[in-house]
Amino acid sequence: MSGFTAFHYQDGELFAEAVPLKQIAAEFGTPCYVYSRSALTQAFQAFDTAFANRDHLICYAVKANSNLAILNVLAKLGSGFDIVSGGELQRVLLAGGDPRKTVFSGVGKTTDEMRQALAARILCFNVESEAELAALNQVAQSMQTVASVSLRVNPDVDAKTHPYISTGLKENKFGIPMTEAARIYQSAHQYPHIRFTGLDCHIGSQLTEIDPFTQASSKVLGLLGTLQSQGLQIEHLDLGGGLGIRYRDETPPSIADYVATLCANTRTIKQKLLIEPGRSLVGNSGILLTRVEYLKHTPAKNFAIVDAAMNDLMRPALYQAYHAILPVAQNPADTKNYQVVGPVCETGDFLGHDRALSLDTGDLLAVMSAGAYGMSMSSNYNTRPRAAEVMVDQEKIHVIRQRETLAQLVAGERILDE
Ligand SMILES: *Cc1c(COP(=O)(O)O)cnc(C)c1O
Repeated sequence: MSGFTAFHYQDGELFAEAVPLKQIAAEFGTPCYVYSRSALTQAFQAFDTAFANRDHLICYAVKANSNLAILNVLAKLGSGFDIVSGGELQRVLLAGGDPRKTVFSGVGKTTDEMRQALAARILCFNVESEAELAALNQVAQSMQTVASVSLRVNPDVDAKTHPYISTGLKENKFGIPMTEAARIYQSAHQYPHIRFTGLDCHIGSQLTEIDPFTQASSKVLGLLGTLQSQGLQIEHLDLGGGLGIRYRDETPPSIADYVATLCANTRTIKQKLLIEPGRSLVGNSGILLTRVEYLKHTPAKNFAIVDAAMNDLMRPALYQAYHAILPVAQNPADTKNYQVVGPVCETGDFLGHDRALSLDTGDLLAVMSAGAYGMSMSSNYNTRPRAAEVMVDQEKIHVIRQRETLAQLVAGERILDE
């Protein structure tokens, strides 16, 4: 993987494209998410060009980072979208995304969300159970329309990733068992308001090996063959997302190799290929900029207490995920071994353990690879307003989300009037 190409040192100062991060902190404060438009564009184009002449659609998984500006940049590049809620559908529409390039995933779609998505005429629902299929058929009937559907099958392969982000094992809540899928496709006559147009799987996230993808596509291809021999017209095959990125020393396949493998694995079929990448598009396109508030040296540990916390970036607390933490200004002094922690009242509130850094109070740090599952998983825990977000485009800085205010944070709350 390309790593942090858009974030680089110049004379000991860390830059985002042509902008010193120090300048962003001075103008917009910290904590602040900083994204690189060029990194995002390059990642999208790496996927798109790797498909070469193959009929394909890249459906960006909105949940990785749902900022409207991110969605808009991708929409302008021709991206489609993979949504998991009615709220994400609204974001895609607000950002100028094309509903005809949008697929709707998730195990618990409500009838209200189905209605919204049918009204918007999305490309396809990725359905995860027979109960959902029956509900969707009813909603479509009530709207006198027909819903296009892929069944999301669970190919029962081990993605070899963190258990919380593994989704393609038979004991996971996701998808329909392979052994039942053909029967359900064959029951199409029971659902006059459903048209089966695709076949879908997604086996997990942050996969660093190609083999599980190959195992999954071979199983799904077998099912596709069965369906075709039974006379079903399947128009597209959706192979999900999940390609990993380098956070530390992982060596995931490159985007080009990953896509080339998917294309090779499916060379015998003529269906359009869909993929749903999230992390691999935005993960290394963003960082979280934070400032050291206090240094605290105890007999046991050195703590760098920073102004970003688990509410801003939950991945370390949630999955013990590793994010590289770089000084914004390189400091030649001797390093100490630091625990980089936030101000939240939880021992799980850390951004990094055992980092060799030379720090002074007030120094800026960049938490790398924070573009995916960073802001989109943030919360207001400890009544902390959400961070600002900016997007750098060469020497320009665009504020793409203002720092949340306390007034916004409590706006929906009411005290009892007696
Ligand atoms: C989360 C998710 C994705 C994206 O996964 P990444 O690992 O971010 O690429 C794609 N499809 C579905 C159904 C998902 O739930």
